[in-house]
Order: sequence, then C-alpha cells, then structure tokens
Amino acid sequence: MATARGTLFGLPPTAPHLRDFLAALPGGRWVITGPDDPRLKSARDLLDEDQLERMETVPLGEFAGRLLTACGVPAGRIATKGQLCAAFVDAQRTLGPDHLFAASAHHVGFAVELADCWSDLRQADIGVDQLMAVAETMSGPWREWTQGLASLGAHAEALLKDQSRLLGSDRLRQSLTILPQPLPMFDGVVVLMGTSEHLLAERWAKWLVTMGLDVRVVVDAVSAESPLFEPHRRVSERMGWPVVYSEKPVWWANLFTEKSEPPVPPPALALHPAFDALAECEWALREAMADPAPGRHQALVVPDVKEYAPLAIVSASRFGVPIRAHYSAPLLTNGLARFCLELLEALNEPDPRSLARVGQLSYVGLDASEWGELDNITRQLAFEGNGAWGDLAVWARDQSERMVWLQCALEWRALYGHQSLTLIQWRDHLRTLIGDVMHVNGTPDPGDPTEGRDDRAITALQRPLADYATIFGAQLVSFAQLVIYLRQWWTNEMVTVPAQSENGVQLLVAGSSLKDVRQVWVLGALESKIPVRRRENTILPDAIVQALRDQGHWLPNSTETALAERDRWARTVALAQDSLTLMYPLVDDDRETIESGYIRATLRAAGQEDLAAKVYDRSWTLPPPDMCRSRAERDIVEAWAQPTRPPEVAEVIQVGVQEQIRPGDQPVTPAQLSMARLCGFRAVVEQRLRLYPASERLSLMRFASLPMNVRLPQLPDGKEARAALRQAYNERWNAIAPFLSETERRVIEVASKKLLTGWAHREHLARTYHEWRGKGEANPVILTPIEGDDRTVRLQADVLEVERTNHTVTFFTSMVSLPDAKKWEWTPGPSEAQDPYRFWEIMILMSQLPVGEGQVPILEVETVLNGRQRHILNDRGLRAGMDTKHQMVEIVHAATLSLTRQYARHRALEGFRILDSGTARPQPGPHCEQCRYGELCRAHAEFGDAATEGTT
Ligand code: SF4
Repeated sequence: MATARGTLFGLPPTAPHLRDFLAALPGGRWVITGPDDPRLKSARDLLDEDQLERMETVPLGEFAGRLLTACGVPAGRIATKGQLCAAFVDAQRTLGPDHLFAASAHHVGFAVELADCWSDLRQADIGVDQLMAVAETMSGPWREWTQGLASLGAHAEALLKDQSRLLGSDRLRQSLTILPQPLPMFDGVVVLMGTSEHLLAERWAKWLVTMGLDVRVVVDAVSAESPLFEPHRRVSERMGWPVVYSEKPVWWANLFTEKSEPPVPPPALALHPAFDALAECEWALREAMADPAPGRHQALVVPDVKEYAPLAIVSASRFGVPIRAHYSAPLLTNGLARFCLELLEALNEPDPRSLARVGQLSYVGLDASEWGELDNITRQLAFEGNGAWGDLAVWARDQSERMVWLQCALEWRALYGHQSLTLIQWRDHLRTLIGDVMHVNGTPDPGDPTEGRDDRAITALQRPLADYATIFGAQLVSFAQLVIYLRQWWTNEMVTVPAQSENGVQLLVAGSSLKDVRQVWVLGALESKIPVRRRENTILPDAIVQALRDQGHWLPNSTETALAERDRWARTVALAQDSLTLMYPLVDDDRETIESGYIRATLRAAGQEDLAAKVYDRSWTLPPPDMCRSRAERDIVEAWAQPTRPPEVAEVIQVGVQEQIRPGDQPVTPAQLSMARLCGFRAVVEQRLRLYPASERLSLMRFASLPMNVRLPQLPDGKEARAALRQAYNERWNAIAPFLSETERRVIEVASKKLLTGWAHREHLARTYHEWRGKGEANPVILTPIEGDDRTVRLQADVLEVERTNHTVTFFTSMVSLPDAKKWEWTPGPSEAQDPYRFWEIMILMSQLPVGEGQVPILEVETVLNGRQRHILNDRGLRAGMDTKHQMVEIVHAATLSLTRQYARHRALEGFRILDSGTARPQPGPHCEQCRYGELCRAHAEFGDAATEGTT
C-alpha cells in the first residue's frame, strides 16, 4: 500500500538525470504522466524492459479520465483542437460589425489563435466568470477586449457542451470536486511538469495525494541559485512543496551567470559557423559520419524544423546517412492535397478552363501533348454555356488512362456539384472523390514512400471536415461554400512527415529535452532565432495579463516568456553528453548574420571563452579528399580534381544556317560591326536577328526608337512633337501591355511618361540652339562603302537630320543607350575606350559621315536613359562639358578625321569578317557583365560552361 505524500523534485532536464530518478523509484506500479506529450514519449524511451512492466506513461487528460471513471464519475469526451477551433469560428460569426474583433472575425487563423489562448486560460483555471470579473476592473478598449474574449469563450464552450465535449483541463477540474478516498490501482504517480506552469495540474497533483497516492512532481531546475528555470520556484510556492534538487551537477550550471568555471568537465565543445543553412547541415552530417555507425545517438538541433528538415534530409540522402526527421509541414505542401484543392476549385468554376491549370500540376503527370489537348478542349468548350461540362465529360471518357482522374472528377461534379449537404455527407463524398482521383499516375508500388505520405495527407484533408461537422451538425452547405471553407481550413492544416529512419541521426527542435543523445550539433544559432525576440501575445496582451494577475490569477507576461528562451537554450545544450558543436550560417537570405549571444554565454559557462572557431565558409563548398566520408562525395571531389580542358565553345557549323546568318550583300550598321568585334554571338542574336531577352523586351528599351520613328526634329512645333510621340507610344504600349504584370505596367507607365516629357522638352531646347530645325536635310539614310582587301562593306546608318555650316556638319540620330559621358576617354592610337562597343559604333559612324574638307563632324544623339549627347570629332580641342542651358553633354573626341577613319575602318572590317563567317561564335570577356544573353550563349564569363567547369 502506497504512502500518501507529495514531493517536488527539481531535476536538470537531461536523459541521465531522469533515468536515475526513475530507477530510484520504489517498487510497485507507477504511472508517469504530464501535460507535455513529447516529453512523456521521451521518458518512455528511457525505460528498460523491467521498468516498462511496472511503469506506464499516460497523457494527462487520459489519466485524469481513468481516475474519474475509477471514482464512479463519467469522464466526458475531450474535444480535439480542431473542434475547439470550429467552435470559435462559429462564435466569431456572432460578433457585430462594430466589435473590436470584427475585422479579424472572418479569418480562420484568428480562431486558431483564440483556441490556443482559451486552452492556456483554462489550464490556469481562468474561465468566463473570471474574465468578466477582471473586465469590470478595467476601462477603455481593454475592458471591451476582455469582455469580447469572455463572450467568445462562453459561446465556444456552450457549443462544445451541446456536443458533449469538454476540454482536457475540465477533467482535472472535475476531479477536484471528488472527496478524498483511497485509489489502490497503483502505488505512485510521477507528474513531469518540466517548465510548464499548469496551475490546474498542480492542484490536481495535490488532490492525488489526498487520494492516498505517492505523488512525485518533476520540474526542470538546476539549483536554488541558478537563474535558469524560474517557473520551478513559482510552482513550489503555489503548491507549498519545497524543491528537492538533484545532487548530480551539470557542466552548464553557470549558464547566464558571471561564473566561468563549470562544476564538472563539459563535453567536447566546438564552434563551426558554415556558409549557409545547407552548408551547416552538410558539415554537421559529415562530422557525424566520422562515427563508424552514425545513428540515433547523434542529433542535429535546429531552431525551426520546417526550415531545416528539407535541407537535412536531402544532404543525408546524398551522403547515405540515415536520418530521423519527424516534423509537421503545411498540408498544402503535399502534392495530393494541392491537387485536390485545385481540382475542387476548378469544378466550382462556371466553365471548365481552370481544369487545364489542374492538368499542369506535376502530381497529375500529363505530358506536353496531353496537356495541350486538355487546354484546347477546355478553351473550345468554355463558351458553350451549360453544355460545356457535359461535353467535356464525353470527351474525357474517350481519353487514355491518363485522364481517368478527369473522368471521375466530372462524374462526381455531375452528381454533387449542385447539391447542398451536411459536412459529414460532404466528407464521405470527398473521400470517394479523393480515392478515385489520387492514383492519377497508376497505383504506387508497395513500399513507395509517396503512398504513406499521401495516406497522411488524406487523413489531414478529412480532419477539419470531421471537426467542423461536430460543431456545425446538420447545417447544409452548398458545394460553392464548401470550396471556400476548404481553402480556409486546408491552408491552416498541418500534416506530419514521418521519420525516414527509426535509427538515424535525429533532427530535433531547439528546446527538446530528455533525448538520449551523445553528440549534438546545434544549427542556426543566430540572433532573433535563438533567442526569438520578445513579443506580446496578440490575444492576451500584457495589459490583460497584468489585470488578471492583480486579481490573483497567474499567467506569464511577454517578458517572462522571452526569458524562457534561456531555458530553451539550456535544454538544447544539455542534450549533449559527449560532444557539442555550435553552428550558425554566415549568410541568411543573402544577408550577413549575427551569431546568437547565447553562444558566447555557453562558451563562458564551459570555461572556454577563447575557443577558436573553425569556419566552413564559401571556400569549403566541398571538403578536401581526406574529409570525404561518403562514396558519393568522394566521387564528386575526385571528379573535380581531374585536369580540366577548356570547354568547346558552341558555334554554328551548319552551312545552311551560316548562310542565313551572314550579311551577304546587305548593308550593315555600325552597331553590328562594332558588336561583332566584341562578341560574334551577340552581334547575330541582338543586332541581326533582333532577339531580346524577355526582361529587355518588356522594358523601357521597347520605346527607344520612338524619336526616330516620329522623325522628331522634322515636326513643326512642340505640340505636334508631343502628340506624335504620344500616339507612337500608345501603339507600342498596346502591343506590349498584355504581356506585363500589373506591377510592371504601373512602373513602366510612370517611367515612360517621364521619357516622353524628357524627349519633347529636350527637343524644344534643341530648337533654341539649332536654327536648322525643320530646315535641314531630312531622312538621310547614309550608305557608305568601306573598302576591304577582298570585299567592299556597305555601311548603313539612319540619321534624322543634317545641319551644315562652313565649319561643321551636325547629324542627329537616336540610340537606345550611351554610357555616361565620364566613361568616354580616347586617345588616337590602338588603345580602347571603356565601352568599346558603343565607342566604336560612334566612331565608325562619325568617320564615315559625308563631311567636306575642313568641316568637323558632329553627331547629336538622343538616348533613352542618358539624355542627349553631342559627339564632336576635333583635334583642335574644342571645349567640352555639360551644356546645361540645352541639357546636352558635349564630348570632344580629340582626333583627326583621317586617323579616326583609319582605325574605324580597321575595326569595321574586323567586325565584318566575324559576321561574314556565319559562325555566331561567342567571345566571352569583361563585356559579358553588361550582356543578358549569357544563358543563351553558354559562354558567359561568370556563369557559362567555362565558368562552371572551373577554367576561368
Ligand atoms: S555573355 Fe558574353 S559571350 Fe555570351 S553573348 Fe554576351 S557578350 Fe557574348
């Protein structure tokens, strides 16, 4: 017979401490329970076979139910979290439009927050009456806020009661009303409280003592002096039980104190920042593989499992290391779930066109021609009105097996698409639909991992329907309304991703405790992730928490919750029994990072403040050969170590194609010749074929030729100039606008307005400068022959107007862009300018312009981005600079015309030879930096084949 007594044990949250504690329990039958289910599961893993025979781990609510039954009190059914959430959704509908919560009332996420908050309040033994009483003590909006919370809670609880459901804490509350009596079912109870402050569980544990049991409550604690695990002091005070601390010291006892001498030697410590989150996972796993049998005794501990799990899983599978990552992910990240939702939404549309979007999902697996057929038929039928869906069903029946999903879905729509049913009925019919359409790619092989994943997704898809059905009962819901509900519910639903290997390296979330691991790598130890920043609870802000405290109810405020981050870190480092490696990414989302202050606190507590970091920065993308642990990695490293030969640059070799590319007898432009000297590929693609990268096609550059098209200088006045530019702009805009997103449209519209205004304004200024506007030689397309050794090249240049004086000849043209004036520097001779492409384009053009003896050629150019420039060829050094009055930059190229002709001819012929080869051969170099054709030519100096093969 057990002795009735209650004891509060303060234990460091480590597996060895709990194991020793459980081993020291007196003989007899024991129940281990507590409010934290993962902790209970970890405790169960620590029990040996003998202990398992006499010790049972039971979740708190279930155990409380068993006790009630033993005392002859019927234990009601506990509501699921989804049902509580559904009850709050219904409660939110009662809010008037002026209520403080009205703006959030239609969000399911708000109901989820309310459900969590209400559970916390009830665990603290705070209910509707207590909230109403506290509201009376408050004023202003907080009063209305608290009353609103209370009335929503009252509504939700009443709904649950109607469906005979209660909260888990209600069972504890019921127990407290039972009079003391002996419960000889077992000899003692261990309540694992950890750091949770579950006030009802505390009172319930004391009640257990009155029922004649030996009750041992275990809280996280290190010592009476330690600043860690503050909640244990409050638990002791509330229960009136002194804390019995463990006598077995821990190395991290001095965490967050000034002391730097650990009471016992720490595990082997290391600090290994890595380049980014993926590099962290890879290096942690490589180090884990140094162990001859990597497995469950090792753990990667991360701040956010959802973020790190995909990286860790993919790295582990590459290295061939077993990994045990068990986590929850949003339901709609599952292919089947997304397919089901998009399919239902498409079936709810007035016409079947959206089914083509469903057919594009990779889950469906249609090939391009099958998808094309589906797209065509849905477009054709879209305007047939009511008969469209029926005709599509007939078409689907004639299709190959790949379209079985479509056939099933259309038959299902014909049966239920216009019905109003209860949620339970909808759940049953959806189950049928999902069952019919889910094996769109055939039945998976037994053991196929996607099958297990999809089974879990199907459970998660049905779960909210069942939960809401419990609350909404016999309410009828139309198919259209159901589809809206499903998007809301499934967006908030999570699905568990099972562990890939039971005995693999564990992936744990920071703060996990009681895991029996010897080697630990703590990843992602960055400021703002560990610790996360203090933030007030959105539903229970500090003002309300304080008012509750003033009335004798206890809840943690945001400062106390933020302080608990230290406890989370302590539990994290406490996991390590043999070695602890602290890591963080040097770059996160392309930004440099700040290491968590907790890293330094840990090194200090371990007496190793001077520990040097080993940094796996970008230069460690691959390990040196002696650090390769897996065959796959060794193969890659060896492959990289092989001598490389420069990749062959792709060029056109088919004679027929070369013929098409060659200029032949057609005239060529200075731009083509100038570009060909730099890069044959770009000259052909951009200058001859006029192919532009998508980003450029949709940019302002599309409007660059407008001044040329409207023959700007020949228009009689400013008004006409503006009108002509506007009209030309509108025509071009109508052609490109359908291909732009809304945001791009807005940006381009604003920028193009400035462009038109700028052109018109500068043209107006030019007319105060040039007397010749409208009187010069109009439309002079210049064709100049350039004599080569074996060919004569016909140069073609389109200039808008020419003005001649005794000393100068000014030509006006427009170009897409010219560099900033500062970039032009040239001295006569073989040196190149900073922008050789545009520079030689200008030079070739100027050198060939028909000017008379002693006349200086001047080229005036209107550009898209750099305003207007006047290029003057004059070896007598005319003044150059900004003509602010006329908003024009003057650039003097100090060279004689004859010397310029000599060099320009040489370069033009060089360019022509390249064009005439017809090979379109890429010539990578520094000019690639400004080029957007890199992905086409595959020779870009930075990311082309050459770069990726390590030869440049
Ligand atoms: S990226 Fe370089 S090599 Fe490729 S087309 Fe552009 S300039 Fe030529």
